[in-house]
Amino acid sequence: MRIGFYICHCGINIANTVDIEEVMKFASQLDGVVVAKDYRYMCSDPGQDLIEEDIKSLNLTRVVVAACSPRMHESTFRAACEEAGLNPYLFQMANIREMVSWTTDDKEAGTEKAKRLVAAAIRRVVLHEPLEARRESVAQAVLVVGGGIAGIEASLRLADSGKKVYLVEREPSIGGHMAQLDKTFPTLDCSACILTPKMVEVGSHENIELLAYSEVKDVSGHVGDFRIKITKKPGYVNASKCVGCGVCTEKCPVKVPSEFDMGLGVRKAIYVPFPQAVPLLYTIDRDSCWYFQKGTCRICERFCDVGAVDFDQKEEIIEIQVGAIIVATGYDVFDASKITPLGYGHLDNVITSLEFERIINSSGPSGGEISLKDGTAPTSVAILHCVGSRDENWNRYCSRVCCMYSMKFAHLVRERIPEAKIYELYIDIRAAGKGYEEFYNRVLDEDVTFIRGRGAQVTRLATNSEEEGKLVVVCEDTLLGIPRRIPVDMVILSVGLEPQKDAAGVARMFKLSCSDEGFFLEKHPKLAPVATATPGLYLAGACQGPKDIPDVVAHASAAAAEAMAMLDRGYVVLEPEKAVISEETCSGCRICLDLCPFDAINFDEEQNIAVVEEVGCDGCGVCVSACPSSAIVLRGYTDEEILAEVEGVLA
Ligand SMILES: Cc1cc2nc3c(=O)[nH]c(=O)nc-3n(C[C@H](O)[C@H](O)[C@H](O)COP(=O)(O)OP(=O)(O)OC[C@H]3O[C@@H](n4cnc5c(N)ncnc54)[C@H](O)[C@@H]3O)c2cc1C
Repeated sequence: MRIGFYICHCGINIANTVDIEEVMKFASQLDGVVVAKDYRYMCSDPGQDLIEEDIKSLNLTRVVVAACSPRMHESTFRAACEEAGLNPYLFQMANIREMVSWTTDDKEAGTEKAKRLVAAAIRRVVLHEPLEARRESVAQAVLVVGGGIAGIEASLRLADSGKKVYLVEREPSIGGHMAQLDKTFPTLDCSACILTPKMVEVGSHENIELLAYSEVKDVSGHVGDFRIKITKKPGYVNASKCVGCGVCTEKCPVKVPSEFDMGLGVRKAIYVPFPQAVPLLYTIDRDSCWYFQKGTCRICERFCDVGAVDFDQKEEIIEIQVGAIIVATGYDVFDASKITPLGYGHLDNVITSLEFERIINSSGPSGGEISLKDGTAPTSVAILHCVGSRDENWNRYCSRVCCMYSMKFAHLVRERIPEAKIYELYIDIRAAGKGYEEFYNRVLDEDVTFIRGRGAQVTRLATNSEEEGKLVVVCEDTLLGIPRRIPVDMVILSVGLEPQKDAAGVARMFKLSCSDEGFFLEKHPKLAPVATATPGLYLAGACQGPKDIPDVVAHASAAAAEAMAMLDRGYVVLEPEKAVISEETCSGCRICLDLCPFDAINFDEEQNIAVVEEVGCDGCGVCVSACPSSAIVLRGYTDEEILAEVEGVLA
């Protein structure tokens, strides 16, 4: 055995808290080590050259590098070994940065721990076997889940480059939250005007198969070859016959609150969510349709001249195969009724920001008129920032869009009601974006009163005649250091962005991880913001964390570019660390079959043994630990290798 040991300073990242010289000396005395060297940045080209030259000139049979996390540079060093003719799996990394130097200021303790991890890696690498990675071809299609601006952008980028896209949206139309917005900060473009051309393009693109009113039910397979089952819910209207005349909606006798208008307007039981919907196809909502609920009606069917209404339509299961998946399921808004003192849900004229977006919209329930419950226009409006955000009781994080959309609201109120008093109650103004600070200054010039302080309470308890009949916002003005009472006609609560309510379930299905806040977790916050820990699975838009539209579009384009690059390469490399079942030892108990989270184990009835389908195996090791006969081993993680590592740490 001829082991080469290399230790990285990582600038001062490691060298400040680990005595490099001492660890090197320690390693050089361990069994099998024939060379021990250090370098300032081992991952750099000269660092890799150093290893490659030693492999060739000293005939090394194993290599250990003590540096950062294997997640950062394991592939770099494996590639260097391969370049020099050494099987890349005869390499082991000891993480002495994230697991040592970044955890302590105590150099002595750091050095001691580094030595133990190095000893563990050296004992382990001795047992490594040469392994071979496999190449598999990539299915030339991508699944995009969620048809908000993120999903739309990602789909168009992919489709324009010639890739087949399946876009799955659970609502009857694509568009997401952006379709509900009136104007968009900071340029004040009309949201629908910039969104609908893209929606139409999606609907008519030859490379996009739009599956609206559909949900992904099952995901199996792996990068390059994901197998997806999609449920297409019945809308009870035949798409090939419907001409979109709208007579069915006109005649439908049922009125229910419109989800698109945040419950402020009504829709019928057969409806399109909004006039620019894509696909422009009427849908019957089973839960409110009298025929489905009471057994009589069918008026829509009677009035449909083209016979498009089809009450016999059934749920369809569609199965597809794709090489990559982009999850773009977006966000939900914070439920303001949770903060009872703010009055939402029990005080008239206390509304949320998304409701205000619908109110101010000319195609919204009030035709764009800002009015109070009694139909009159407000003479004073308070906009409360950070409702449900930057709050230890709810969400600690900043929702990133609320300051800007709150100022957008101030501008829009000023435009519609020039004489109104407008108050912005803020903690800090966060206007970091192109043209955002300028927009803030513009609103400051529009006679808007900014009060630094979180709105703590909204009541109707008047203490003087000025407050009579008004909503009273109570806050502490943190600049003046005094409590304030602000009487207004209307209060807008700028609710924060949260993960979708079903995000945990979606995460389970796609085998995604979630951050503490519940948003989907990217592979690396800086260097891999759209990739995930699962190869071939990418994130786009606000499902990964709060974002405004420019950031969502950039994020979605990046996700599309990653998926495109993989499809264009045409193959994926499947790592060899897979479970292997010994035919002689397997007792046929089938315990592993139920436990495998990837459905990668089948049962051979003839031989009465379990068989791993290597391509589907993710190398998680669940089956290995559960097998009562110890018949399963995970290549690269054998019991012997792990025990050797433990012994190295304890030695
Ligand atoms: C009040 C308010 C005002 C705003 N104003 C502005 C503004 O002026 N300018 C700006 O830049 N940003 C603004 N924003 C932010 C903007 O809304 C977001 O940046 C953007 O909508 C995020 O897009 P998305 O596609 O990531 O998510 P979403 O718009 O939430 O879209 C997600 C889509 O996925 C679908 N979906 C969810 N789960 C599933 C599933 N399991 N299967 C299939 N489909 C699913 C949803 O139905 C939806 O269509 C505002 C936000 C709010 C709350």
